[in-house]
Order: sequence, then structure tokens, then C-alpha cells
Amino acid sequence: MLHHLNVAQSHTANGIPCLCLICPRQLHQPNLNFNFDNSRSQLPLLPLLHHPSSLNRIIIVTTIFNNGRILCPGSWGRFVSTLVVEDDHLAHVGWDSDEAIVRVQATASTVDLRNRIVLPGFIDGHVHILNSGISLQKLDLLPCKNVADIQSSITTYAATHPSDPRILCRGWVQSVTDGNASATVLDDLDPRPIYIEALDLHSTWCNNAALKELEAESKPDPPGGKIHRYQNGTPSGLLEEAAQFDVVWPFLDRVMSMKNKVAAIDAAIRAHQRAGYTGLVDMAMGESGWVALNMYRNQRGELPMHVAVHWLVPYSKCDADICSHIDRAIEIQQTFNRKISSEFCINGIKLLCDGTVDGCTAGLHQAYGGLSNIVDPIWPADALSLAICRATNAGLQCVIYAVWDRTVQQAIDCLCQIQDLPACRHPIEHLEITTPEDAKRLGQLGIVASVQPVHLDPATFGGWPEMLEIQRCKRAFAYQEFVEGGAHLAFGTDSPTANHQALPNLYVATTRRSSIQPSLQDTINPECAVSLATAVSAATAGTAYASFSESWTGILRAGFKANFVVVDMIWAPESL
Ligand SMILES: [Zn+2]
Repeated sequence: MLHHLNVAQSHTANGIPCLCLICPRQLHQPNLNFNFDNSRSQLPLLPLLHHPSSLNRIIIVTTIFNNGRILCPGSWGRFVSTLVVEDDHLAHVGWDSDEAIVRVQATASTVDLRNRIVLPGFIDGHVHILNSGISLQKLDLLPCKNVADIQSSITTYAATHPSDPRILCRGWVQSVTDGNASATVLDDLDPRPIYIEALDLHSTWCNNAALKELEAESKPDPPGGKIHRYQNGTPSGLLEEAAQFDVVWPFLDRVMSMKNKVAAIDAAIRAHQRAGYTGLVDMAMGESGWVALNMYRNQRGELPMHVAVHWLVPYSKCDADICSHIDRAIEIQQTFNRKISSEFCINGIKLLCDGTVDGCTAGLHQAYGGLSNIVDPIWPADALSLAICRATNAGLQCVIYAVWDRTVQQAIDCLCQIQDLPACRHPIEHLEITTPEDAKRLGQLGIVASVQPVHLDPATFGGWPEMLEIQRCKRAFAYQEFVEGGAHLAFGTDSPTANHQALPNLYVATTRRSSIQPSLQDTINPECAVSLATAVSAATAGTAYASFSESWTGILRAGFKANFVVVDMIWAPESL
């Protein structure tokens, strides 16, 4: 009897398959053949099953993984040679000569790691599971460089997908079309509704068939959102911010069957498994996604990896609306909390406070992009404080989406009214432009810096440099300052806004270069790069801390879950 091993491949930043991942879990499985010689070609992808409490174990299954470079627990960047796994737990991490290893040698199976590096399983600290899965099925427009590219990609896709009821696209970078998002540009491509979601997910560009089925003409702009219109009131094609969240997404959600949603969740989780993840944090859960995720879990018996969720609380001018969303999260927490089910739980709420530079909805301290006025954060401070207070009092973590310096400052000002703030581990998400003072305040106040390095990829830096002053861009993605200020750093990918792969995230964080176009020599503020040890820690132990699971995963330590990946890599940022 051997451990069940999940063997998969992933890709380096430059697209070359060179990763071999193993996630041993506790399924007793006979006749496992494991051959590292194949690790650079096709390895079998074995099903990953996980039944924490349902296995009635009589025999303890022990495997020794030796001749590796196993990231030393508590010492980032140092390695030991051997680890022992008993059932689903790490029993020992150390050296071959350790007494704990010698004792089990006669009865244990052995896997020769052949000098490969073993890291804790990655935890994606910011992902949208359902959207991520749906996105995998959409036409990706990220490679398109102009309107003509977009038109030709859609035409080709439409011809090869004749039975799709509508054409769904993703990865549109607004600066690529110079702000042009008019429906008429798309109308002649296909008679079906066409939806083009922006890379940052904050807006959708529609053709007239899509605007018609959305009934956009008769809808007013929702608070914090905009349906772009011609002077006569007819929608012109772009729906952004709250119009995306309140109009486009609910409609597409309604027309998608539950079966397809469950299939999308499965696709997202499998893709993350193949990339070396053993845990996910969903950052904007709603009713429909929650039902689908539970259905998926019930069908399987268990999820293949640990999942924590944050309930999306949209801004409303009506306090009762806000409270009803928070109360729903509190209600779910009664059943799905960390004490009852640590591997499938609700951790808190998510408050979306900011917009985008491209869309001129970003909360910055100064006017930008031709605007004469300063843009306010989506949530007024008093409403934000009320929401944080209500959720915190109920034991919920508050994730604040604050990308730009003015919104970050407001978020920190509101958070610091909370007593015993460090114990709450409230994260601020994104933190793309911060003032030097606020970069320091994160650590001082115990606020988690939850960031997505893939968003600083120079290939998708977009219209920033033109729209913001150069000086302000120098403050972009100041990760090293957060670390020096003592903040807990946690990494996520924000998939589907960016690639879900773990290694490109580490590559961009440590080199500040593009993983999308490795030949691109541009760097974004390289002085703010973090070390590889810090980056790996942020993608594993850091996300475990941010999701309150650091007592059982995120680090290779005896007694912890055997959540780990074997990586065929050189321990150097440029080689990722
Ligand atoms: Zn997100």
C-alpha cells in the first residue's frame, strides 16, 4: 500500500514545461508506479481524492521522500534532504540519518526526489473560482494588440463555435483599443450577443445584441456604475464598475445552467491542482457560486483542496442592504466555519472600494487622465466603518479591495478604529499605489498586505504611465516596503484577471519583469522586488496566515498536512 500521489506538470514563466508536482493525500492506493524519469515529458495525472474523516485507517501508510532539497521549516531559503509522510500528514522533515527516519526505513516506501526542490503546496490567496472556470472556456483576447486583432479573433472563434448561444471573451486590455468600446465595432462580426470582459473584470464591452438582451437601454446606472450612452440615451457598448457587477454578471449568471457552473468549478480547481496549489481563497463569493460550490463538494464527497471564501458585500446607499449581506455571511458561518470544517469554510466578507485607472474610477489622491476632479472611493468612510465593525464583531475577516492610494488611506483609517486589529488579520487587497506612510502603516497596524504580483507584469501595465504622473508610478507595487514595514505579505493571482499559475507570480514578484513576454526587458520598479524566499513564503505560509490556516498547512513541518509540491527548478528568480 502506498500513498496516493497526484503527479502533474506545470509551466515556468517562459512556458517551458519543467515542473513536476506531487501532492500526496491520504488515499490508500496499491500499485502506484512513480517514475521521475518522465518528469519533463508527460506524467500521469492521477485522480486526487480527499476524505479527511471517512477513511477508517488501520494501517498507517508511510512514505519517505529522500535525496531532495526540502524547504526547511521556519528557515526560508535553506533546505534539508528528507521528509516522511504518514497518511495525510508530514511525520518528519530532516535528514536521512535522523532517528525518526531510520526507525521507519524498513517498512516505509521510498521515493527518490533526485535533488528536486520540495515546497509547501501553493495557496492562491485571491481567486474567483467560478469565474476562473468559466473564463477557461472563453475566447482569450489578451494577445490582441488592436481593434482589428480583436475583430479577427472573434470572427474565427464564432465560426468554430456555431452552437454557443453567445460569444464570451476575456482578457481585453482597454488601452489596446484606445478607449474605443462601441457596440457597432462588434455588430458585424456575428449576430449573436458578444460580451468582451476587460482583463481587470471591472467592465464589459458589448455588441448591440448583448445590450438588447441585457435590456441596458431601460436600465438606470446603478450606484457606483455606468452604462455608457450616446447623447440620446442609447447605450453605446461599455458597462463598467457596478454596471458590470449589477447588470452583466447577474444576467450571465441567470442564463448559465447549474450543471455548467459545477463543471466550471471543477475545471478551475483542476487547473489549480495541476499548477501545484493545495488551497484556494475565493475573494467574491455570492449566492449562485456558493450553491454551485456546495453542489460540487456534495457530488465529490469532499473538495480536492482546501477552500476558504469571502462573501461579496456590494456597496449600497441603504445601510439595511449592506447589513443584510453581512448577515448572510454570518448565517453561513454558523455551519461553515474554521472550527467545524477548516478545509471548507467562510472566512469573512469582501468590500469592493475601488475602481480602475483605465476606467477613470480609481480613488487616487490627485486628479488624473484628464479628470479635473478627485475620484472618491466607492464606499464612503462612514458606511465602510459600519460594515467593518458589524462583520468584525461577528468574527468575520474583512477583506478590503483598495488598489489606489486614496482608497488605501481610507481603508487603513477605517480599519484602525477596530480594537485588537492584528488579531483580526483584515487584509487589504491589491495595494498597487500606496503612499510611503501607508506602506509603513500596514505592518504597524497588523493589516495583511494581500497582493497579486502578476498584475504588475510589464506586458499588461496598460495606460498607467500616460495617465498617472511618472512620480506616482514610482510608488507602484511597493512590496518590499510592505515587508520592511513588518506587514504580513500574502500572494494571490486574482484568476481569472490573470494567469492562475504559481511560478509566474513568483517570477514577477522577484524580477519585476514580464512572465507573459519573457523577452521584454522592461522592469517595474525593480527596487521593490522581494527575495525568492520572501515570495515563496508569501505564496504559501503568507496565504495560510491570511486565511487562518497556518497551524496546519503552508509550511513543511511535522504534524502539518502533507500539502507539498515537488518542483524541478533552480533556486534563482531568473530561472523560474
Ligand atoms: Zn479579485
